[in-house]
Amino acid sequence: RETTWQARCRPVPGEAGVLVTFEDRTAMEEAGQMRRDFVANVSHELKTPLTALIGFIETLRGAAKDDAAARARFLDVMEREARRMNRLVSDLLSLSRVEADERVRPTRRVDLAALARATAVTLDPLAADNGVTLVREGMDEPAEIAGDADQLSQVATNLLENAIKYSGRGASVVLSLAREDDNPRLRGPAVVLSVTDTGPGIDSLHIPRLTERFYRIDSHRSRERGGTGLGLAIVKHIVNRHRGRLVIESTPGQGSRFSVVLPAGPVG
Ligand code: ADP
Repeated sequence: RETTWQARCRPVPGEAGVLVTFEDRTAMEEAGQMRRDFVANVSHELKTPLTALIGFIETLRGAAKDDAAARARFLDVMEREARRMNRLVSDLLSLSRVEADERVRPTRRVDLAALARATAVTLDPLAADNGVTLVREGMDEPAEIAGDADQLSQVATNLLENAIKYSGRGASVVLSLAREDDNPRLRGPAVVLSVTDTGPGIDSLHIPRLTERFYRIDSHRSRERGGTGLGLAIVKHIVNRHRGRLVIESTPGQGSRFSVVLPAGPVG
């Protein structure tokens, strides 16, 4: 790994020599590089749909002006591109919000079972549109933790949306909740929310990088399914804020399981 040092020379009053200090600037350089990469990524992600929109507007003014069927088709594509930009901006705002308050631990009482049931109901229509069956497990009994309900709903939503959109028609996605008295990762009582799919699975090479912003295994497939590449980065930050763990297990060709392990126990 490359390191960057900054050296400074200063005269020392009353002494013949100079004082030389060395400062390790590696972390700052890396942070600067990450910021530049992020801005480049965001610009690219916004520019692609914008370029498409401008192209379609020109076509609507010109060749497609008198062709009602073509006009309707182009308007559909334009709506899809505009919605993609809207989703991207919403995800960017969510990401900056959760990054900003990652250090503050949420303390409100949340029943994860009720939250999981409500999220599943919200996603039933998406599952139906994609020909996927959404199965619920272990969410009849309450499972209370200290948390932020809006953010935890976002975690469940992002994981379920991925499982649904990356699985083929006819697949099942299981949303399940389990309580553990002594979870080995947290060394204490935990509630585990997991989403299991029978989709394409993920090569182990990619797993450590999935929570990076804009990291996608197949960009074309992600975009085609309306992905922004930010969903799992948002999940990771929210899980960190709750002092939990995100565990990703997958077998290529068989499917994946994304588990969120959250500390159970009294609020406060
Ligand atoms: P995206 O908006 O692209 O879905 P995410 O951050 O949610 O962004 O996910 C990052 C990448 O991880 C996706 O582009 C996809 O390649 C992969 N991925 C996420 N969930 C699944 C899943 N359930 N099955 C297979 N691949 C997945």
